[in-house]
Amino acid sequence: MVANLSAIRNDFPILQRSLPNGKPLVYLDSGASAQRPQVVIDKISEVYEQYYSNVHRGVHQLGDRVTTEMESARSRIQNFIGAEHPEEVIFTSGTTMSINLVAQAWGRHYLKAGDEIILNEMEHHANFVPWQVVAQEQGAVLKFIQLTPDGRLDLEHYQSLLSAKTRMVSVTGMSNVLGTINPVEEMARLAHEAGALFFVDGAQSVPHLPVNVVESEIDFLAFSGHKIFGPSGIGVLYGRQALLENLPPFLFGGNMISEVHLDESKWARLPARFEAGTPAITQAIALGTAIDYVTELGFDAIEAQEHHLSQYALEKLLAVPDLEIYGPQELAERGAIFSFNIAGAHPEDLATLLDRRGIAVRHGHHCTMPLHQHLKIPASVRASLCFYNTTEDIDALIEAIDFARQRLRLA
Ligand code: PMP
Repeated sequence: MVANLSAIRNDFPILQRSLPNGKPLVYLDSGASAQRPQVVIDKISEVYEQYYSNVHRGVHQLGDRVTTEMESARSRIQNFIGAEHPEEVIFTSGTTMSINLVAQAWGRHYLKAGDEIILNEMEHHANFVPWQVVAQEQGAVLKFIQLTPDGRLDLEHYQSLLSAKTRMVSVTGMSNVLGTINPVEEMARLAHEAGALFFVDGAQSVPHLPVNVVESEIDFLAFSGHKIFGPSGIGVLYGRQALLENLPPFLFGGNMISEVHLDESKWARLPARFEAGTPAITQAIALGTAIDYVTELGFDAIEAQEHHLSQYALEKLLAVPDLEIYGPQELAERGAIFSFNIAGAHPEDLATLLDRRGIAVRHGHHCTMPLHQHLKIPASVRASLCFYNTTEDIDALIEAIDFARQRLRLA
């Protein structure tokens, strides 16, 4: 384990516990939702115990404090993603909401019949269905970048799809199934050369890889608090100021207006225009603490540890008889997410038997039905790792897979 991460597990109280069946928890499901360090849990308590009230409204001292805390979180998130202005950081309920916001607000306003949106088959349903629906509504066309046999995007095919008709390219920074890390910087440049906008679904990439929206020319970026060691119910939409300023609001009500009259209303400035209603106040503040936590660890240490774990996991998993891993086998092109099947084992049976040994993994289509159709499999088992995992966790996974193979009479 990388030196300054060796004590990291102690920051996460849940990782110290044993399960009701007495087995120690081996948490390999951070891709679905990560765990929170004590500082984030403490921050949540601090807000409720000391200064909780509504934001942006009261002149009272609690309102003042809670607003200052929330706006400070916004500024720290701005710095974390390299955005130019705090107003470019919109608090949403998560990645799903962030993508729906742009698909609906931008799509309904700007998309015309015959316009094209470029996606691909590895996308999570959250970065798929919102575009599909708005394309159907507006008569726009979805185009799909082909995948290579090892689960990367075929960039030559991508270039051949780009044209004057392309209005939006939306891609995941890291696949939640294949682990593929997509070359967003190069893809953004190509999208812009074609005059299109570029959206990154950062749900899986932002917690594990550094991002700079300005340097990478990302127009929109979405990510979720619960995958980056913060609370659930909060997420971020980053949008370039000039773009957000020219988008109509998506939700209407309190906080997002500047004037309301019986016959018409006027909208507030950014970011309030896209934050109708009472936001997830405590969650937004605690997301700021989670971002500080990641910043302090530093991506050099995070990436080194996750690379070390990935190398170990890949070697051990590939040695299991009849086990197939989906996605790139080159570590430089993938994150610490391993989806696999074992010939003759149903993924649900496998996940259930692993759970008996205290191993938390996910099974199913992981909200990527088109990808599973492409792979010609109904489902898979997914072990997603994070810097707080250890090689002992991977040994426990391999031992539990052995146990499952015996129970399923595969060994
Ligand atoms: N995109 C990707 C790549 C994801 O992995 C997920 C979560 N599984 C989402 C989008 C949706 O995130 P949320 O459920 O937090 O909105």
